[in-house]
Formats: sequence, structure tokens, C-alpha cells
Amino acid sequence: MDRSALTTEQLEELHQALERDRLQLEEHFQLTKEGSKPVQLGTPIGRLSRMDAIQQQQMTKAGRTWLDIKLRQVRASLEAYRHGDYGDCRSCHEPIGYARLKARPEAPFCLSCQDTRES
Ligand SMILES: [Zn+2]
Repeated sequence: MDRSALTTEQLEELHQALERDRLQLEEHFQLTKEGSKPVQLGTPIGRLSRMDAIQQQQMTKAGRTWLDIKLRQVRASLEAYRHGDYGDCRSCHEPIGYARLKARPEAPFCLSCQDTRES
């Protein structure tokens, strides 16, 4: 696997991908705001539709949590880019590698550190 430092072209490509992701995620975040309102307990709706509403709300919540984490990672990566240390693992400080960053430009850790954290 390619774990060498990024070339200028690769860095610029990933930077553009991050900016694009940030815009999309922020837009998504705005759109899901409406759906995450608490279920109105006083609203006279049937049991099933109330269950649906709660389930949908939980799904929206999970989606927002995911969005929130992703957005934080994207912003942190953009911040790292501005400081000139984008592409380095935030745990072992080795280059994360272009292949992994191309798939996940916001990845904060290299594969081995990610594995360690998840296990
Ligand atoms: Zn690492």
C-alpha cells in the first residue's frame, strides 16, 4: 500500500474533495433540521403512525450524529490542510497514504491506527 507523502497534485485534489464534502454536508445538515423536531406527544395520531414518527425521528437523529461526526472530521482536515499537515495520521504522524485519503479524504488516522482504535 502507498503510504508515501502526497504530491502537490494529490493534495490539491483531496483539498477540493474536502471543500465539496463540507458544502454538501452543511447543506444536508440544514435539510435534516426540520425532521429532527421532537415528536408532539399531544398530537392525536394513531399508535402506528406515532411509532413511525418516533422511528423516523430516531433515524434522523442517527443520521445527524453521523453527519455531525463527518462534518467535524472534514473541518478538521481542512484545518490541517491550512496548517500544512494534512495527510498525516493524527495518532502516529505517518502519512495516511493517497489510496485511503482518496476513498475518505477526511480520514484522521491511518489504517493501522484506525484498526487499533476500533478493536
Ligand atoms: Zn497512524
